[in-house]
Amino acid sequence: MTRLKQEREVALRAVEKAASLCEAVWAEEGEALALTKKDRSPASVADFGSQAVVCRTLSLAFPEDPIVAEESARDVTKSEHVDILKRLHTHVQRIYEGEEHEVLDWLRLGAHRLASRYWVLDPIDGTQGYLEGGQYAVALALVEDGVVQLGVIACPRLGDALSHDAAGQGVWFLGVRGEGAWTAPLGSYDWQSIQVATRHDAGGAWVEGCSPKRTHHAHHKTLAQHMGLAASSLRVDSMAKYAMVARGQSVLYLRLPKPEHATYREKIWDHAAGVVLVEEAGGRVTDQHGGPLDFASSYLLEPGGGVVVSNGSLHEQLLDAIAAGAESSESA
Ligand code: AMP
Ligand code: MG
Repeated sequence: MTRLKQEREVALRAVEKAASLCEAVWAEEGEALALTKKDRSPASVADFGSQAVVCRTLSLAFPEDPIVAEESARDVTKSEHVDILKRLHTHVQRIYEGEEHEVLDWLRLGAHRLASRYWVLDPIDGTQGYLEGGQYAVALALVEDGVVQLGVIACPRLGDALSHDAAGQGVWFLGVRGEGAWTAPLGSYDWQSIQVATRHDAGGAWVEGCSPKRTHHAHHKTLAQHMGLAASSLRVDSMAKYAMVARGQSVLYLRLPKPEHATYREKIWDHAAGVVLVEEAGGRVTDQHGGPLDFASSYLLEPGGGVVVSNGSLHEQLLDAIAAGAESSESA
């Protein structure tokens, strides 16, 4: 590993601090301190705390670099959320000393626009999983000229097994463009190189999201059947799904829009770190039409593009099946 040495070290340090904050919040607050955002998705003290800590760490090392992150300080400064703000301050202060207004300033560092070089952060991907004691991830990536160069994904409750259960000791993943993809126990630098698997070696395993509201389970199943993969998927919250493809436990991660969300625009922070990880492990990531995900234009990807993540070798056949409309009658 020779490229982006400082960026890599800082990104890993930032994500490690954020992951430890998330686990501390979970241990002390449980699911009590969460609010519902305008889009009706949940955000917890840990989502805001993780973002404040990562942005603070990045800004100390790379003060010129813009950061595009999921959470907004506006959500936590409303008067009804004064308790959340207090707990946020307490938890962040254990990592970086500062007044409440400084913590909010660190959070606001994530409100930038895309630039020729920028960082993109999902402070907690899979907040639902986090709040239910399931899988979640902290995901940070560096994008230069629209290409994801570096990605770090921490999965604090994942272990070595291909499993949704959250009993793992924590692992993290690193992808560096042109150099490779690695995993290690969370917080350790004992990196092992990872590669995608053949369909046979992975036993035809494939993954998808848990939420029936936003995951097109029926369509995914039809496609997997068409491809001769396992009859049922493993359903996992968060970008842990990218990691399972990258480390060869799963050959496919499907994320196609449901008919009622046909124009849903995926967010760049839900994918950037996963893209470099899977590509460097030998896999492929495209939208459902076979186009690359666009990290140069907007924090929103193409309407209705969905995302297809594979081991590479089955990608074209899968895109053909999608184009040919391999739908089941129950999926419409
Ligand atoms: P997952 O854990 O794979 O279910 O993905 C969680 C992410 O899905 C969240 O971070 C949201 O940004 C994103 N999301 C929200 N609504 C939708 C939707 N309708 N379709 C796909 N993803 C969504
Ligand atoms: Mg997310």
